[in-house]
This record gives sequence, C-alpha cells and structure tokens, in this order.
Amino acid sequence: MQYFPFRHVDKTQIITINKITGESEYVQVVGKLTSLEIMGEKRGRRLVATLNDGTGELDLVWFQGVNWMQKFLQVGSKYRVFGKAGFYMNAPQISHPEIEEVTETGIEKNLYLEPVYPGTEKLKARNLGSRQIAKLVYALLQMLHEKDIPENLSSHIISKYKFINRYDAFRQMHFPKDQNEYNDSLRRLKFEELFISQLRLSFVRYKRHSFSKGLLFNKVGNYFNEFYHNNLPFQLTNAQKNVLKEIRKDIGSGKQMNRLLQGDVGSGKTIVALMSMLIAADNGYQSCFMAPTEILAQQHYKSLQSLLKNISITVRMLTGSTSAKEKREILQATANGEVTILTGTHALIEDNVVFKNLGLAIVDEQHRFGVAQRAKLWKKNEINPHVLVMTATPIPRTLALTAYGDLDYSVMDELPPGRKPITTVHRMEYARPQVMDFIKSEIKKGRQAYIIYPLIEESSKLDFENLMKGYEEVKAFFPEPEFFISMVHGRQKAVQKEINMQRFIKNDTQIMVSTTVIEVGVDVPNASVMLVESAEKFGLPQLHQLRGRVGRGNEKSFCILLTKVKLSLEAKQRLKIMCSTNDGFKIAEKDLEIRGPGDIEGTRQSGILNFKLANIIEDKKILEAARWEAEEIIEKDAELSLNENLNLKNFLAIQKDKTPWSKIS
Ligand code: ADP
Ligand code: MG
Repeated sequence: MQYFPFRHVDKTQIITINKITGESEYVQVVGKLTSLEIMGEKRGRRLVATLNDGTGELDLVWFQGVNWMQKFLQVGSKYRVFGKAGFYMNAPQISHPEIEEVTETGIEKNLYLEPVYPGTEKLKARNLGSRQIAKLVYALLQMLHEKDIPENLSSHIISKYKFINRYDAFRQMHFPKDQNEYNDSLRRLKFEELFISQLRLSFVRYKRHSFSKGLLFNKVGNYFNEFYHNNLPFQLTNAQKNVLKEIRKDIGSGKQMNRLLQGDVGSGKTIVALMSMLIAADNGYQSCFMAPTEILAQQHYKSLQSLLKNISITVRMLTGSTSAKEKREILQATANGEVTILTGTHALIEDNVVFKNLGLAIVDEQHRFGVAQRAKLWKKNEINPHVLVMTATPIPRTLALTAYGDLDYSVMDELPPGRKPITTVHRMEYARPQVMDFIKSEIKKGRQAYIIYPLIEESSKLDFENLMKGYEEVKAFFPEPEFFISMVHGRQKAVQKEINMQRFIKNDTQIMVSTTVIEVGVDVPNASVMLVESAEKFGLPQLHQLRGRVGRGNEKSFCILLTKVKLSLEAKQRLKIMCSTNDGFKIAEKDLEIRGPGDIEGTRQSGILNFKLANIIEDKKILEAARWEAEEIIEKDAELSLNENLNLKNFLAIQKDKTPWSKIS
C-alpha cells in the first residue's frame, strides 16, 4: 500500500478518432477492432490492426510480440486504446499502444488517472511492471475496508487542517478521480509522515528531559566567578547570556544535556564553550573540547590558555600529531583527573582516551557530527556526559528540525558589538591586477589579507600545484622585504603549519596564502581582506565560513570572490547570494534550496532525511505544522493516554520497530 506511484497518466478523457490531430500527444480512444493482419517480412514484419469508433479509423501497429498480440486480439471485440498518436500516410496510428478489452469488470471499465509506479529490476524480472502493480494494488484496495487502514491522527488535527481520512488518502493516492483528490491525499500523507517523525524526535527529547539521568552541575563556583570577574575580556552579548542561561538550566536539571548551539560565524561561541566548561570544573568534572582541524585545535588551546591566565586549571591538547611520549603522559593525566580541560581533534574520541570523570563534551564548528559519534562521546563516562554541539555555520531550520530534531537547540543570532558589515564583491579573473593593488593598499594601512585557493581533495596534486603557482604569483606582486607571506596547506607537518600561522597572527607576515585548511574558526582580528581564488568551486557554507575570517576587528573588511568568466548557473546563484547578504541563517536556507536535501553531506547515508513523500524544502510549511502538533501532543500527553490520542497510540504500537529514529535514543 505504501508503494506509491510517482505520477499518474491522465486517462480520464476519451476522445473520438476524428479529433486526433497531428499535434495530439497521448490519446485514449474506444472502438471496435475491424481488421487484424501481419504484414511485411523480416525486419519489416509487423502486426497492423484497425480500430473503428464510428467517427474514423485508427491504425495500431506492433513490431514486436507480433505473434503473441495476434493471438491476444480479436476482430469484432471492443477495446480501449491508449498511446502516443502519430500520422502515417495521412492516417492516424499508434504504435505499440496500451490496449485492453473493454469489459464490465475490473479497473478497465473506469476512466481514471492511471498510477505509474517506479520499477526495479527485481520487480521487472518477475514481470511486475507498473500496470501489473496497479492491478495488484487495485485488487488489494477492493479487499481492504476502512478498519484495515485505521485513522492515526486525532479528530482535532483532522478538522483543523481539513484532512481527508487515512483510508481515503491511501485509496486516492493510487487511484484518484482527479488531480484534486490526489493533492488532498498527498497533503495528508506528507503531513502524517513528517508528524510521526517529529513525534518520535520530540519523544526522544521528552524522555531525556524526564527520565535520563544526567550529571547535576548545580553550583557556580570559583573557577567561573574568577573568570567572569577578572578575565572576561568583554561584555557578553545578550545572545551569549541567553545561551549560557539555557545551558546552565540544562546541566543544573539533573538530566543529560544534548544541545545544538547554532551561531553565525563570529558570534562568539568559544567563550560560551569555555564558560560552560568552567561550570563543569566548579562541580568537579572534566571537559573535552573537540575541534575539526589541527589548526583550530591549536588556536583553541592557545586562546583557552590565555583566557584562563592566573586561573589554576590544567588544559592539555591532544591531536593526531602529538608525540607518542606526550600522548602517553596526557592520557595518564586525563585518566587520573589532573587534566580538567582536554582540547584537540578527533583524537579525543578514540577509545584509548579515558577520563576520570568526563562531565561535558563540546564539539566545535561541526554540525555534521553524526549520531554515532555523539554516542561515542556519551560512553566516555558511566553517566552520559552533557553534550554541546556547536555549528560551524547556521543550518536551515528544516534540517535542524529533522536531522537534529532529537537535540535541544539554542540560537545565537547576534554578533558582538562594533562589527562592521563585510563588503563582498565578485570579480572576474581579468581584474586580478586591480584586486592585488587593492590588497596592497589595505596592507599599507596596516591590515592583513588571506588569499585562499580551493582544495578539492586533500591529496590532489593538481590543487597543490595550483596553490604553489598562486603562491609564486602572489610573491611576485608582493616582494620581500616590503611584504612577507605565510603559506599553510594540507601537506605540511602540523608544526610547520603552526609556525606559519603564528607568524601571521603576530603580523610578521601580512598575507596568508592557504587552502581551505584555515576554513573554520581561525581568528586574526587585524585581517581585513579575504580573497577567494576560483570562488566558483566553493560551496555556500564554505564561502561564508571563509568570509567569516575577516570582519573580526574594528576595521572595515572586504571579501573578494575571484572567478573565471564562464560560470554555471548554480555558481552564479551562489556568488549572487554571497554578495547580497552577510546573514549566515539566510545563506543556509538558500544553500539547502539550491542543493536539495539529498545532497547534504553526512545525512544521505543515514537515511534521516529520506522521507517517502515529503521533501523538507518544498514541504517546509507542512513540516512546521507537523512539528508544532507533535510538540503540543508531547507536552500535553506524552504517554498518549488521552482518548483523543488513542488512534495515534495504536498506530505507533504497530509501527514500533520500523523506524530509524529508534536508533537515536
Ligand atoms: P565563533 O562563534 O565563530 O566561534 P569566536 O568564538 O571565535 O566566534 O569569536 C569571534 C571573535 O569575537 C573573537 O575574537 C572573540 O574574542 C570575539 N568576541 C566574542 N564574544 C564577544 C563579545 N561579547 N564582545 C566582543 N567580542 C567578542
Ligand atoms: Mg569558533
């Protein structure tokens, strides 16, 4: 029943043969077979039949299955014929039409929108083409009654949204009388699909809030207060304060926190992370703070150390390039509790990293951090530690609701004060000299610049050569000793990257030439120009992240997107969006619109967005409604014990094991 047709062929109209014109596409006629004969030889051999409906004659021709068709058809019988009409020697004809004897039983007698079902090789091998499937479904529907497809939505929802009932919806999905019937079914079944998934997600959250035992961080102590009063370098924004409040509420509830923090680039997530970790420390627990790249881990390590100056907290860093000796020592100090904050890369979630009492795990700049990885973090303590996932760039609300709907989420939609909006422009390659002159003038004012080259594959030789070529060009434009250039790329050892990065941070070098290894997180407030080479090769989130590297200081900043002249439509769209807004939330929505949900990295395999009917972009409104209703039910009647939710309860009891959501909790 849930094997839905992907379209319908309109067979609601029967036309007369004299109305067939040269332009007519698909036609359906009913008439008597007046002749049937095999003509021609060898490759020209064909079966030709003539159909007469009283207004004219139509030739039907078969080049294949000639003998079989000849036996199947009978002169004198009445047939319904459907196919693409053409003209041959001025006479209308259809080759290889669909043909069916018109009898008084079965679906043949009805005029209808014929369902077309997706085929698979397997089905075809069993001779189950679309029409056979249609017949089976039709037969099945004849046997099913309303009680076999019981309603699963409450009468309140049904009447509020004017939905048709479930039984009718299924029937009309397959065999609608007209387009309206089909649309009504589709709308109802899409809602149902999204609603059930939202209900499960809300239930997972509800269960966590009400039952899952979590570590209780109920006090704010010396670490936090010392930092707040002595070390906090600026006033927190209201958004930061609100999020901290939400986090404190979570971790002070005795339940496990599982929160997604969405904030635009530069909104100041790091400090929120740090302050949360200080609360963990005040309650006697360790924290870990994971970054997606080595450079970023380094930067976090450095900034944590400087922010925690004069506060006696041990911060250590563990990455892929930590020496074996140091690693052994860190692992030991982590296991025995000497380390309070452990920062680093994915190395942190490896099995050999054992904590004495991990209380809080923070994953930075990485919303594509899957359920499985989160689960790995949870297991690092007997009672699941609190988990905070911070996104690199905002994610569209539809994705937040579906792919991350089991998490609570906070939004930081405010940038620290004093930021000047970044001016973004798109320039073609031939303008490179002017662009370079502009960068020169900025550097002469004391600013610094990034020049970024695409990195399609970590190891790609071509990308690397491209970068080196670019580096030579940049060097020719900006000769020493007037200018100094840093270069960072994926083939360098971590130490080398770090040295080059540090020179740039200290303003010993004015230009940073790099691949996207610096994409996320890097914070050098004096840099005011971001030049992206071959910008057409970057995705929107990446461009937005890169642009976020500038505009961090008090100076006016610029982002220049340099491209070749000939661009694909999609690339043009992306560049236009980048030039028109700085708002990461808007960009995220546009990105999803352009790419579609099937293309979102990390979600494709998980099947989390694979809805049968619904499409989270097109059906955004339905999704919002489904979310709202699901929340409402969980809030009022999470256990579904009220009478009005009985339908739903019965339905879920049958469906229980069929859903990927069960894996989440
Ligand atoms: P992101 O959210 O992109 O990770 P960061 O945490 O790196 O942002 O912060 C970006 C910059 O803004 C840093 O230089 C940080 O010190 C600064 N910053 C953060 N919060 C504030 C604030 N409330 N007022 C002023 N500057 C802030
Ligand atoms: Mg950050």
